[in-house]
Amino acid sequence: MQIFYNQNLAQFTTYKIGGTAKTIFVAQTKSDLVSAHSLYGGYPLGNGSKLLISDAGFDGNIIVNRAGAFVFDENGVWAESGVSLPMLVAQSVKRGFTGLEFACQIPATVGGAVVMNAGAFDKSIGDMVKYIEVLRDGEIVKLTAEQCGFRYRTSAIKNSGDLVLGARINLQVGEGKQKITMAISGRKNQPSGKSCGSVFKNGEQKSAMLIEKAGLKGLRVGGAIISPQHANFIINDGGATASDVYTLIRTAKARVYADFGVRLQEEVIYLGEFL
Ligand SMILES: Cc1cc2nc3c(=O)[nH]c(=O)nc-3n(C[C@H](O)[C@H](O)[C@H](O)COP(=O)(O)OP(=O)(O)OC[C@H]3O[C@@H](n4cnc5c(N)ncnc54)[C@H](O)[C@@H]3O)c2cc1C
Repeated sequence: MQIFYNQNLAQFTTYKIGGTAKTIFVAQTKSDLVSAHSLYGGYPLGNGSKLLISDAGFDGNIIVNRAGAFVFDENGVWAESGVSLPMLVAQSVKRGFTGLEFACQIPATVGGAVVMNAGAFDKSIGDMVKYIEVLRDGEIVKLTAEQCGFRYRTSAIKNSGDLVLGARINLQVGEGKQKITMAISGRKNQPSGKSCGSVFKNGEQKSAMLIEKAGLKGLRVGGAIISPQHANFIINDGGATASDVYTLIRTAKARVYADFGVRLQEEVIYLGEFL
């Protein structure tokens, strides 16, 4: 296990934004994860692809999860929670399995995907999970998919204090290559650049449409911009601070509420202090 002191967290996020943390444990194995969590505790970080971390950093320990072992059998795969989801999709298709292709471009770890019930094209990881293993109060506990309480882009595990150690994912035997091609072409409009994916959850009306109708596409604060391509993406266009992104989030919420009476709800997760 690697340990860093007072290091910048930006490198552990897809936004490439964020101040320092007192201690960062980088867990390479499941036993690293268990030790770090049991001995020191800390905020679990997967691939940091849903996080906006404060410029002031985080006053506590961070456990970066790189536990990357996985085992396939005839019905699917057992994957440790630090496994990269796109890599797992590629491995499952290579072995002649289908079912996970919708997730081929979700830059998550398995653990982060389970906690957020990540999904695309009307499918979510929760549809595929048979059971997971979590560390709860120092004990390893198995939870069925039902006990995970999967809902739209969240689960009962989020904010529960449980640390996801791994997940058993059901797969079917079948050809997946074409579904990958379709999933990639279905996301052609997704902006490139450093982001956290969709900033806001979609309600009855799509958040991107509301932000666009409010005339906010292309609005820039410092190094952050509401994507001219997809209004639910705020991009770090170079040197953005968390405060730049946060200002755009607050502006979008205020304008959409003023114009349409709709309260946008963040999907992005804040870590650290935001004033
Ligand atoms: C370009 C881009 C495209 C995206 N597209 C999609 C998409 O199509 N669909 C979608 O749903 N999301 C999408 N996302 C968002 C993001 O990838 C998902 O929300 C993903 O599930 C986050 O996983 P992560 O491993 O990065 O988690 P992180 O961002 O590191 O963490 C998210 C939350 O999960 C918690 N967590 C992480 N790991 C664990 C663990 N092992 N145990 C307990 N808690 C844990 C964290 O503490 C945090 O609260 C996109 C993001 C980007 C940057």
